[in-house]
Amino acid sequence: MTNWTLAYNSFEPEQEGLREALTSTGNGYFCTRGALSWAEADGVSYPGTYVHGGFNRETTIMAGVPVLNEDLVNLPNWLLMEMRIEGEEAIGMDNVELLSYRHEYDVRNATVVRSQRIGDRAGRETTIETRRFVSMADMHQAAMRWTVTPENWSGRVEMISALDSRVTNTGVTRYRSLEGRHLDPVSPRTFGPEVIALEIRTRQSLIYVAEAARTRVHGEEGPLAVERDLYQMQDYIHQVLSFKVKEKEPVHVEKMVAFYTSRDHAINEPLVNAGKAVGGYGTFAEAFEHHARAWDELWDVCDVRVPNDDRVQLLLRLHIAHILQVCSQHTADLDAGVPARGLNGEAYRGHIFWDELFIYPFLNFRLPKITRSLLMYRYRRMDAARAAASAAGYKGAMFPWQSGSDGQEETQTVHLNPKSGKWEPDLSHNQRHVNADIFYNVWRYYETTGDFEFLLDHGAEMMLDIARFWSSIAHFNPERDRYEIHGVMGPDEFHEKYPGSDEEGLRNNAYTNVMVAWLSEIALEVLDLLPEHSREALRTRIGLTDEEIQMWDEMSRKMFVPFHGDGLISQFEGYEDLEELDWDHYREKYGNIQRLDRILRAEGDDPDRYKLTKQADAVLLFFLFSEDELKLLLERLGYEYTPEMVRHNTEYYDRRTSHGSTLSFIAHAGILAEINPESSWERYMVALESDVGDVQGGTTQEGIHMGVMAGTLDLIQRGYLGTDIRDGALHFDPKPVGNLDGLSFPMRFHGTPLQIELEGDRLTVFVQADGPSLEVRVGDAVEEIQAGERHAFDFRGP
Ligand code: BGC
Repeated sequence: MTNWTLAYNSFEPEQEGLREALTSTGNGYFCTRGALSWAEADGVSYPGTYVHGGFNRETTIMAGVPVLNEDLVNLPNWLLMEMRIEGEEAIGMDNVELLSYRHEYDVRNATVVRSQRIGDRAGRETTIETRRFVSMADMHQAAMRWTVTPENWSGRVEMISALDSRVTNTGVTRYRSLEGRHLDPVSPRTFGPEVIALEIRTRQSLIYVAEAARTRVHGEEGPLAVERDLYQMQDYIHQVLSFKVKEKEPVHVEKMVAFYTSRDHAINEPLVNAGKAVGGYGTFAEAFEHHARAWDELWDVCDVRVPNDDRVQLLLRLHIAHILQVCSQHTADLDAGVPARGLNGEAYRGHIFWDELFIYPFLNFRLPKITRSLLMYRYRRMDAARAAASAAGYKGAMFPWQSGSDGQEETQTVHLNPKSGKWEPDLSHNQRHVNADIFYNVWRYYETTGDFEFLLDHGAEMMLDIARFWSSIAHFNPERDRYEIHGVMGPDEFHEKYPGSDEEGLRNNAYTNVMVAWLSEIALEVLDLLPEHSREALRTRIGLTDEEIQMWDEMSRKMFVPFHGDGLISQFEGYEDLEELDWDHYREKYGNIQRLDRILRAEGDDPDRYKLTKQADAVLLFFLFSEDELKLLLERLGYEYTPEMVRHNTEYYDRRTSHGSTLSFIAHAGILAEINPESSWERYMVALESDVGDVQGGTTQEGIHMGVMAGTLDLIQRGYLGTDIRDGALHFDPKPVGNLDGLSFPMRFHGTPLQIELEGDRLTVFVQADGPSLEVRVGDAVEEIQAGERHAFDFRGP
């Protein structure tokens, strides 16, 4: 059973923020941090509740300058529950002695449990177990149960069950000088004697959010008679339930909560619907039963079993649970993108970045309808992307680096360097590669699912308009006889421009240029795939000319890729002229140098000067494309591809990468799976442990890293089983490492459910009954597996 539980056995105030993020409970619609239910934001605890799409913009006047930011809003705290014994002050961590303590997250049921035995000043000992979940069965429902057992006393207890909208966005210390007030109270109210409710409206975006709570008390024999008292203010409401308890007789206090927003489907008005819903909820136990069944269904299609390594097993399941708490079947019905830090905290203000690239592969092979809907988040923002392209003088669609409510660029223009305390310009919006990444995501979704309808209705339009953006930002350099792209940044955020230059961005970022060569070719393929009438209609609709199509063909053959040395791809043009950094010196002086940019700037230096890289950039090409694909791609461009390139480039950049984003460990582990399995596994473990261990020292408490969590799952299928789609067929090329022997998991390819098992040098593929047969390749072996049958491939051969 240990494989399903993340547990902490002592209360550590300085760890609380991290644990709250890791024990958040959600259902793909809304999510709540695993904070103590009696706590308010006080420097130790930070209760936070977030809903997909719950954004609000506020302006802060900084040194006389208005600075606009859009935030994913911290919504009213529904957790609040306090206990008073015999009218004394409410129990808190500072007025009791903790005799025993356990805070756990039940991964299987996405439930957070705190059990504590406390001793108070009067010598009373009380055991309190709180249990809560956000229902995977009913998207609007959350539930909390306190079980209180007086160990050595009998007497009167008062439970204060509250809903609190006096909350602000203050979860990220470095944003605290910016406006954090996002809520205006609408009204508190009650629905009959048992239900309290309140509603807020976000100040600028005018989203209404309502919560309603019904609190009841049960003894072992059934409902207890309680006296109820109400207190309410504009932005807060509570009910006090008082009742008698007896020594050794546990009582259960159940708070059932309904959560609605004005963005929901099938509602009249959030407050009315919340009140109505909560009145009809069953008991905590009944709700839990439904919730657990919904999770069983998810585990049936998403579990990854690693029977020989308990730690890896636990962390993989933890990651699966967190991905599903943010992206579930409920998300598929919403207008939602994936916030880089989940719905678990406020880092990056809940914005949506290129991290999707690391998140979708896991979903594509299991719950593709979720990816489809997340891609629709982008599709619906095509007009904003077109407007952004046009405003910058380009054609087509230019998606923003950071996206929020309506798809405009949300990247800040300045950011605070916590090491120097100075505001510095932020040029990261020049990471135009996000547009190649979105294109890549649409294509991989299509390849994995065969969802032609999506391609026809939405995917092709996105891909073609993105390709148009690229052909308009690229220019032809007759001297080189090549196409070039200037003024952009790669994923490596440490280089924003050339040292000392006034111009933003860099010339010919290799990652971007190769992706653009690739997508230019795929754009032609997409055009070919469309039936003629659809192709012509789409071309007319977006105004795609013959010249542009001709240019894609040329760009797929003539994009410039900078190289220096033998087969060494330059991260961008001129990279080789930068200075080498004395890595040992900085390691010795600072220990952790993942954020070398901040360190150098605080020293008055400039990261632009050096050969240093925050995260996988040029080498990402080896991660995103199979060897065959990359070979074809480079050869089509007229560059030589040699099998040594992978090792050569990876070693070169690895020595110059600080891995300041944990995404970098994913990419490096993925590439190394082929060339250095041991080192790959080492990186893999860093990525796997990065959120539970908070390797970046404080970032996880601000939200989990969705890209890394999903990346560790994708690496199992893509890195270590070598899952790949070649000529439309499913292909495996296993490279087992670590303790992966015995690995098994379900997956789905083109709608066909499969079960994969790895044992020694044998990979068994089981094609589930009721579907068509499936061609599967393992190494050079090809097998048409009939529905309901399995085939074992010996992959290392004799
Ligand atoms: C990384 C980006 C990433 C962002 C959000 C940054 O630290 O460098 O690549 O998109 O975090 O996760």
